[in-house]
This record gives sequence, C-alpha cells and structure tokens, in this order.
Amino acid sequence: MTTSFDPSIPFARAAHSSANPLGIHAGVWVNDWSPTSARAAIEASARAGFDLIEIPLPDASGAAAATAGSDLTRALLDDSGIDAVVSLALGLDTDINTADPAVSARGEQRLLDAVAFASKIGAHYVGGVTFSAMTKYAHPAAEATLANWLAVLTRVAAAAHEAEVRIGIEYVNRYESNLLNTAAQTAAFIDELQERGAANVLLHIDTYHANIEELCQADAVRDAGQLLGYLHIAESHRGRLGTGTIDWNGLFVALAASGYKGPLTFESFSSDIISPATVTISACGGTSGTIRPKWHSTPRRSCGSISPHPLTVPPLPGPLPVMP
Ligand code: MN
Repeated sequence: MTTSFDPSIPFARAAHSSANPLGIHAGVWVNDWSPTSARAAIEASARAGFDLIEIPLPDASGAAAATAGSDLTRALLDDSGIDAVVSLALGLDTDINTADPAVSARGEQRLLDAVAFASKIGAHYVGGVTFSAMTKYAHPAAEATLANWLAVLTRVAAAAHEAEVRIGIEYVNRYESNLLNTAAQTAAFIDELQERGAANVLLHIDTYHANIEELCQADAVRDAGQLLGYLHIAESHRGRLGTGTIDWNGLFVALAASGYKGPLTFESFSSDIISPATVTISACGGTSGTIRPKWHSTPRRSCGSISPHPLTVPPLPGPLPVMP
C-alpha cells in the first residue's frame, strides 16, 4: 500500500465544502433514469438538503449507457448545485470474474461506460459491485478468474484515473457474493490492485452488509483503514434509520477516530422509505430483488413495539432462587 494514498473524492458542487457530505441513493425516489425521473430525483435530493445523489448507471445497452441522459443530468446537477456519484453492479453476462473473454469484455466495457457516464455528468466516483457479478457462485474463486478481474480492474482504474474518477469496491454479504464479504478481504484485494499501479481504488462499506458479515461496524472501519472512501448508510432491514439493530454509535465513533471525511449515503430498499412508484414497479419482480413491499409499513413499527400476533406467555412462577 502506498503511504500517500488519498481516498478523498474530488467533488465540485455542494459536497465539495462539506465534511462528510450526505448523500442519497436515487432509488429512494425513482426506479429508472428517464428525463422525468432524473429531474424528480435530483430536485428532491437537493430540496431535502442532501449534498449528493448516487445515480445507478442507466440501463442502456452498448455505447448508449455512457451517454443516456447525461446532458440533462449534468444540467440538472448544475442547477441544483448538488454532486453525484455513479454506481453499478455487474451481472452474469457482464462478469469480470470469469475466464470467458467475451463475458469479461462486456463487463470491462460496462465499467468503462460507468466511468464515461460519470465523467459526462461531472461525477468523480464509480462504485458498487464492480469486481464481479453480484451473485453467489457455486464455487470458490479460481486463480484464472482472479487474475482476470485484477487485470480488468487495473485497466479500468487507469482509464478512470485519466477521467479523474475513483473506483469503489463495495463488498456485500454472503448471499449476494462469495468473493468479497468483509472490509479486510476487500482491503487485501485493493492492495493487490495498488501493487499493479491502481492508486484510485477506494473501499466502500455498506452498513447493511457489514452488519451481517463483520464482528462489528467499528471493526469494518478499522480494517478498511485509509482505503475507506465511501459509505452506504443502511439499517439492518434496509428501512427507516434507527428502527433496526445497526450499532450507529459504534460506527460513528470509529469513523470519527479514523478521520473519515468521505460521503455518508443513505441507501434504502424498504417501502417504508422509498417512493410508491418505486415500490409498485419493484414489487412486480423489478431489477433489485431486494425491495420488500409493505415491509414494516402498516402500522409503522420499531424494534420492541407490540406485535400484532403476541405470544401468550404464562407468568413466571416467582423470583428465581439465589444461587450460592
Ligand atoms: Mn450498498
């Protein structure tokens, strides 16, 4: 690891002057990137006071992915004054954890399209599941496929460097990937990329995934160390913050101790939070697969509230005897 590594993302709008800029995932507002959705999501994010919006790479095929809506998006961002980052998750037909050259080439192009889209809208970060298909493979990583994803990501990082874009590696839980599930694993992977010359790859923690795989949130932050560049803030059930079991105090104490100055971006996939339009589309088997309609929503509950289906528990027989 280089000693002078700088994990900061060079923001140009509201997030530039904000310590720990607050971000929001576009999926909270909309489910596509049509002109109407782009306007609604960016204007709502700015109105709510966020410094940046995370925009999933528009789902266009071929070269269109790099340009779809980019002119309008840039104009809307300039008008609103907020920054943007771009995210994506590779799929089985765009995987770089593969020995199939055609699939790998599509994956590499998808990553390059994301970098190009980011550059066109004035964004400087492309993150997400950028290291493989977001899937749980039926086998462990093989040497050949590992060599391929390292080679591809090294080339993508070089292209991103030219465009002043940082690449984020977001590890996810074991049910969504069996390759990178912890900050320690991800840091070791980024170290390998740095040894190949990639100096602009950041570690991206998502508190939802960390909650499943790490000993605690603070350990994830410590294991990420100076590589930490981006955070997804998400509750243990992806819903309303503060109603689940995430150890927010432990997380923020660790972040403060580490000197983290990067974004804190809220990511939610619960119908308790996201817009009705998004829920309606996703409930029909939309692309995410992680949205759960009617989840904790009616009536709104938090941990410890009365269950609608209470157990009938007999009273305790009395105080327990004092043990010698
Ligand atoms: Mn995430």
